[in-house]
Amino acid sequence: MMTVQGVKYMSDFEAKKAILDIGKRMYDKGFVASNDGNISCKVGPNTIWTTPTGVSKGFMKQDMLVKMDLNGRVLMGNSKPSSEVKMHLRVYQENPDVQAVTHAHPLVATSFAIAGISLDAAVLTEAVLGLGSIPIAKYATPGTEEVPDSIAPFVNTHNGVLLANHGALTWGKDIFQAFYRLESIEYYATILMYTGNIIGRQNVLSCDQVNKLLDIRQKLGITAGGIPPCSLQETNMRDVITSSDIRPSWPASPIQAPLNPPVHELKGVTPLVKPGQSSPLKEGGCSCGISSIPKETAEKKDTEHLSKAKDEIIAEVVRRVMGQFN
Ligand SMILES: [Zn+2]
Repeated sequence: MMTVQGVKYMSDFEAKKAILDIGKRMYDKGFVASNDGNISCKVGPNTIWTTPTGVSKGFMKQDMLVKMDLNGRVLMGNSKPSSEVKMHLRVYQENPDVQAVTHAHPLVATSFAIAGISLDAAVLTEAVLGLGSIPIAKYATPGTEEVPDSIAPFVNTHNGVLLANHGALTWGKDIFQAFYRLESIEYYATILMYTGNIIGRQNVLSCDQVNKLLDIRQKLGITAGGIPPCSLQETNMRDVITSSDIRPSWPASPIQAPLNPPVHELKGVTPLVKPGQSSPLKEGGCSCGISSIPKETAEKKDTEHLSKAKDEIIAEVVRRVMGQFN
C-alpha cells in the first residue's frame, strides 16, 4: 500500500497479484467464458493496472497486464488493453472514490440483463444492505463510446449495473469489494430467479423493514444503492412450523403476485397489485392475501388441496431445478 494525497492505493505488485487472483476466481466461478471479462485497479490518482484483450481471465500472467492512465494512454506492458476498458475509465472519471472495477458475464445476472429485468426486488436482506438495487443500463454497442455513456448515470448512485444484452459491471473502494459485488449480483439474481420463476413466490419486505435495513446500510458507510420498491405490510412475521401454515399455490403461473402487495411494480419479476386494488389473477390461481377472494373459501381450498399441493410443489421444484442444469 502507498498513500498519495491522503488516499491509500495498492502498489503495482499488490494490484497485479490481486487482478490475477480475482481473474482466476471469476473464471472458476463461471462468470466468464473464453476470453470474456475484464478487471482494473487503481495504483494512483490517475493510473490503473488492467487486464489485456484476448486472454482468459483464468490463465493470466503478471507480464500480460497493462498499466494505463485515466485518459486511456498505455504506460507500461506489452499487451493491448481490452476495448471494454473504456467503461472502467469512465467509472473512475465519474467517481474518484472508486478504486477498482470488475466486469463479467455471469449467467443468471446476464439473463436478467437480456430480459430487461432490473434487480431491485426487496426480498433479500443482504442484497438491500450491501449491494442495493442494480439497474440496467440501456443497450450499447460493445467497444463504442455508447457503453461508457450508458453506465455514467449510475456510477455515483449505485454499486453496480447490468449492461443490457451483455453482462454486469461493478465497482468498489478496493478490488475485493468490486469483485464481491459482482458475486453478490449473481447470487441476488439467482435468488430472484428461484423465488420468482421456480418456486413462484416472493414475499417482498415492507417499507418499514426496508427502512431499517437502509439505516444499517448508512451506518456501514455505504452511500449508494438506491431504494427498492417495498410492501405496505410486513413480510414473514410469523413462524412457519407446519405445512398448514402455508397456502398451496402450486401449480399455477410460474410468476405470481407476492403475499404482500408492494407499493411499486417490480418490473417483470412479479405482477403486482397496489394496495386497495383487486387482484389481476383469477380465483383459481394463487390468492396471495388479496381481499377479493373470501377468506373462508381460500381456507377451505387450502385444506382440500394441501396434501396434493405439497407433493406437486416438491415435484415441480425438483423438475425445474434439474431443468436449469440440463
Ligand atoms: Zn463484456
